[in-house]
Amino acid sequence: METVTRRHKFGGKSGVTQQNATPSVIQCQNFLFDVINAADKSSSRDSRSHFARVYEAWFPPQDAAESFFQRAYYNDVRNWWREESVQIPEEEPDAQFGYHVITLRHKLRVIWALADCGNLAQAESYVHRILVWLSRCYSGPSDARIEGWRGRLFAAIGQLGWKLQRLKICRNPECANRYFFKETQIKFCSSECASNSERLRHLERERLKIPKSRLSSAGKRKISLAQQKRWQKYRASKKKGGGKVST
Ligand SMILES: [Zn+2]
Repeated sequence: METVTRRHKFGGKSGVTQQNATPSVIQCQNFLFDVINAADKSSSRDSRSHFARVYEAWFPPQDAAESFFQRAYYNDVRNWWREESVQIPEEEPDAQFGYHVITLRHKLRVIWALADCGNLAQAESYVHRILVWLSRCYSGPSDARIEGWRGRLFAAIGQLGWKLQRLKICRNPECANRYFFKETQIKFCSSECASNSERLRHLERERLKIPKSRLSSAGKRKISLAQQKRWQKYRASKKKGGGKVST
């Protein structure tokens, strides 16, 4: 038995999953967010050890002898999985997961970026690529595929395919959880990020000494007088029984 807990705002209740049971929708979502937002590289030791403990059973066992081939595959993914709107940094493998987590993260970030800019057909084709990869890797054509990790990844990627229209990237560059599902917010993952981003823009304007408005006070007064005049004209025409004002 393994315990799956949630650390960030997308989480639901803590859950328990049997070794080979299909994970719940919430567990799949938590997994996707933790991988794509790099909980394994978090500055918090708690988050890192939580990731290592909970998701050990979501990836193939790490085999150091395969490191060479995993690196080659990671490089291929970096070369062939691209989306111009997002810069995805190259990462180093770690001792527990090798290249498995960083390779999946790169794929997820490409899919998220494609969906975020409205290219849903391309995003969907990349989801299918992962499903095909899952069908083929680490077993021969006649092997029974009973590995727990494969079933979990299938479930998580299946969930991803259902959510393509909701994949968004927070516009706050300092956001810790930039990759999110759209609820009511569109550009930011939360109202905190929206207001933080406004604060950052303000600080940046201050730093660059960019005035809020380029209009002189005389210019602003001219616009204000023109607006007043137009309102007076409108009210006068309403009194006469008309409704239209020429511009
Ligand atoms: Zn955010």
